[in-house]
Amino acid sequence: MDDFIYDGLPSRVIFGRGTVAKLGAEIERMKLKRLLILATPQQVGEAEAIRDSIAGNCAGIFAGATMHTPVDVTEAALKMVASGEVDGTIAVGGGSTTGLGKAIAFRTNLPQIVLPTTYAGSEMTPILGETENGVKTTKRSMAILPEVVIYDVDFTLSLPASLSATSGMNAMAHAVEALYARDSNPITSLMAEEGIRAFASALPRIVEQPDDGDARSDALYGAWLSGVCLGTAGMALHHKLCHVLGGMFNLPHAETHSIILPHAVAYNAEAAPKIGEVFGRAMGGGPAASALFDFAGKLGIARALRDIGMPESGIAAAAEAVSGDPYWNPRPVTHAGVLALLTRAWAGEAPA
Ligand code: NAD
Repeated sequence: MDDFIYDGLPSRVIFGRGTVAKLGAEIERMKLKRLLILATPQQVGEAEAIRDSIAGNCAGIFAGATMHTPVDVTEAALKMVASGEVDGTIAVGGGSTTGLGKAIAFRTNLPQIVLPTTYAGSEMTPILGETENGVKTTKRSMAILPEVVIYDVDFTLSLPASLSATSGMNAMAHAVEALYARDSNPITSLMAEEGIRAFASALPRIVEQPDDGDARSDALYGAWLSGVCLGTAGMALHHKLCHVLGGMFNLPHAETHSIILPHAVAYNAEAAPKIGEVFGRAMGGGPAASALFDFAGKLGIARALRDIGMPESGIAAAAEAVSGDPYWNPRPVTHAGVLALLTRAWAGEAPA
């Protein structure tokens, strides 16, 4: 066994079906009285149901959460925090809504309860990405990490099949990069392998039958594990590629991750043999990159960047941005290597 450091992140996790019923007891345990409920405009119904269940402890609903956590939206929510004498937040939604709760907590230190409804995993990380004047910055602080996460499988049943598949592959990417992170360690690797295994089994079943509660439960379990991976291990080439592509071309978050993952894995497979070992156990034989590319095909999701709005003319600039300022990666990040990777990913060709 090699030496390692493991930084455990303190958060309380309640997992299961119907676990939203435990929300009142959590609020009491945390001695909170006036909570602001956060949601996107699309999920205001979930926010209202939660308001009705916690009655006197709801200070209001802010249903303006949106992608990329814009600072002006956070400021609008902060006005409600101040005027409502709010002492905590409840975020019900995906990474965008969780991001708003984190942005509020970063500025006020208010405790957060999160009910995740996608597999993005943001609820398990002390990381906040927010945008102002079109510029995205990332902050890391323990004030950002949510105190309580209530995973209620029932809240994920409505996530459409295609978004479930891409959100799941987004989560798998956190687990994959944790396997070969510079600060990888045996504990995070255990969670990564279990997360990959959970999604490999769950996602095809969800696409086949979106209201399959057991499949949904397996996927949400995988999301939790993969979120821990993202929070505890440094990310590498895959996440750098997705950050650059998302920022330069405003591409959809989860779809971008799904398309890039097989290619990033192909790039790193030789330098990080652990990927092959884990995928051999989780997904059967053959190279991990091909297994992931075929998996995305089986799930029926986009496999080409051109199909989600990236212009061909942007490939060279993106390759320059990634190789000019790379994250640490197990294999050196070269301009030629990234250019070839992006050219294949843009066209939807199999990874090589
Ligand atoms: P999202 O939160 O933007 O949700 C996408 C859409 O799906 C929204 O309209 C939302 O209301 C809807 N939706 C969510 N759950 C639903 C459900 N169960 N049923 C029906 N509709 C539902 O998408 P996301 O992929 O979860 O989050 C992406 C954002 O999270 C990105 O901005 C990304 O940068 C951020 N993120 C941050 C971290 C971190 O650690 N800081 C980690 C992962 C993702």
